Amino acid sequence: MLDPLGGEIRFDPSDLDGFYREVSRTSGRDRTLSLRRIHVGEGALEELPSAVARFDGVRRVVLFADATPMVRGAADLKAEVAALLDALGLPLHRVTIPADAHTTAEEVASLSAQLSEGDAVVSVGSGTVTDIAKHATHTSDLLSVHHVAVATANSVGAYTSELAVVTTRGVKRTTPSRLPDELILDTQILASTPRDIALGGVGDAGVGWGSLADYRLAALCGLGTWEPTSGRVFLPGLKGFLARESAFTTGGTTTAEAMALTLCAAGFAMSFAGESAPASGLEHVTSHVLDMTAERDGRPIGNHGEQCGLATALSLLAYDYLLNEADLAGLTLTAPDPNEVRAEVEQAFGPLGELVADECWNDVAVKVDGWAENLDRIQRLVDDWPGTRSRLAPLLADPLEYLRALHATGHPLRFEDVEPGIPDEQALFAFTHARLMRKRLSVADFLAFTGLWTPQLARTLFERFVNLRDRVLSGG
Ligand SMILES: [Zn+2]
Repeated sequence: MLDPLGGEIRFDPSDLDGFYREVSRTSGRDRTLSLRRIHVGEGALEELPSAVARFDGVRRVVLFADATPMVRGAADLKAEVAALLDALGLPLHRVTIPADAHTTAEEVASLSAQLSEGDAVVSVGSGTVTDIAKHATHTSDLLSVHHVAVATANSVGAYTSELAVVTTRGVKRTTPSRLPDELILDTQILASTPRDIALGGVGDAGVGWGSLADYRLAALCGLGTWEPTSGRVFLPGLKGFLARESAFTTGGTTTAEAMALTLCAAGFAMSFAGESAPASGLEHVTSHVLDMTAERDGRPIGNHGEQCGLATALSLLAYDYLLNEADLAGLTLTAPDPNEVRAEVEQAFGPLGELVADECWNDVAVKVDGWAENLDRIQRLVDDWPGTRSRLAPLLADPLEYLRALHATGHPLRFEDVEPGIPDEQALFAFTHARLMRKRLSVADFLAFTGLWTPQLARTLFERFVNLRDRVLSGG
């Protein structure tokens, strides 16, 4: 099979310099990132004092965390961190945000305002806490502020992504940010996270089996860019997961480490791309629609990673249909009618409020225009379908194999089993309409703009998902 990537790069956390050198060599330019060290293992937390002491001119430690109680094995994690930092003999300033805080511009500004020259910020937390700390050090005007991140959950690519998700005036936006200088992946901490959070991490890593293809497809259509390095660094972990390597299935600190490194690779993939696209395609928008409709459907918002992990199986079924079943031969493409697409957006999301539908349409209009502008180019993709297929296929997994791999980790296979329990009909609604909320092109848009995506097709793909999932659950 044609390899569109030119060799995979498995990163060794003990040799980040070697990893950056290899990435720079294969991409023909310097790709060294500001993350200097990753400490991984059961005793990684003990590296914290030396990580702080390594910074030149450090005058004070700012310990940033939320109020959620956390454990490392049987010990109180935050007390342990404070004790380790106390031993440095530096002034310690503690900043604690509420357990339900979000990554808002206000939280970022509040932390940033408390920083001064020579501070070493030690963040202890998952996505929200890490992103606030990253962005507060990124946006501060100070010349010398350092950041050591202590990871507490394998739930996100936040630790190695040079991007932050910050809510500004009520809207979540991904924005360029800064990496931590050092990262601590203590597998005793990561193995102590609650089961649903750990499994959410599995789902959020598995998404690469749909999102990388979406990322590639959008670029092939002229509606995005493709950074091959992102695929090269993300794929090795994804393949280990798909092959059900024992590290991914045995549990405990072994699996916590395998998942942590796979999610680090996802974060690097986003850093090298300069956008979240390599790890966020149709499956993420499907999850976002589930979140948007939760209130209407009278249920709490579900586990993000698990929603994405299951939606990835739906994306794979859509790709399976596009590459192996859909008949595009002789098809002459036309530009979609913006009014028709707008009516679809309003029909899907109007009931959630006029503002929601407007916001979605503003984004969706971008890809409607983009498709029209790139019609000739996309026609060539269709005319050379074997060539197009050979560029996408190496980024895709067999849907059944994917579900088997997910099952082997203990991840739920039914939307009903994703906390707090999502009825299949609601998941089908989200999958059917996900393409109508964001500007990024996915396999669903490709099928829609070629006239193949209908509610009936979405239902058929969902039924296939139910059949495969039941087969895996019954041991088949
Ligand atoms: Zn995610």
